[in-house]
Amino acid sequence: MGINKENLLSDEHHASHFSCAICQDLSESPVTLACSHVFCEFCIGEYVARCLDRQQNALCPTCRASDCASAAKLSEANPLAFRCYAKVQTRCPLHKQGCAWTGDLGSLPVHKSWPPCPLGVVVPDSLIDVRAGPCRGTSRIVSRT
Ligand SMILES: [Zn+2]
Ligand SMILES: [Zn+2]
Ligand SMILES: [Zn+2]
Repeated sequence: MGINKENLLSDEHHASHFSCAICQDLSESPVTLACSHVFCEFCIGEYVARCLDRQQNALCPTCRASDCASAAKLSEANPLAFRCYAKVQTRCPLHKQGCAWTGDLGSLPVHKSWPPCPLGVVVPDSLIDVRAGPCRGTSRIVSRT
């Protein structure tokens, strides 16, 4: 339930620090445990529920050194690490549908909160601020050199 790594533009090394060991994607709404391992908020919640079902202690799925009760939002527990996370470069999840937006994860939620334009509608370049603008499914092709 994380962020599909296919959409990431940052190098593997940068993004790998924020991989969720449960879903193998980039953590979405990252939380961190006392051992500094990072997971999606959703994934760790499911994991804790599974452990409770089996009446097991919910220990870190990666190293088992800390209790998941220590889980805290990365943005609050480790603001510096969260800033690095927010700098991971990504494409819009709708890039296959023609959205040309790229930017960092920190600005993706703002971008995604705008509804995409109907596909196939060509918006003149002058109307698109590709880096900061709303999610428009335009048929513009981005060429990467
Ligand atoms: Zn996950
Ligand atoms: Zn751990
Ligand atoms: Zn978009």
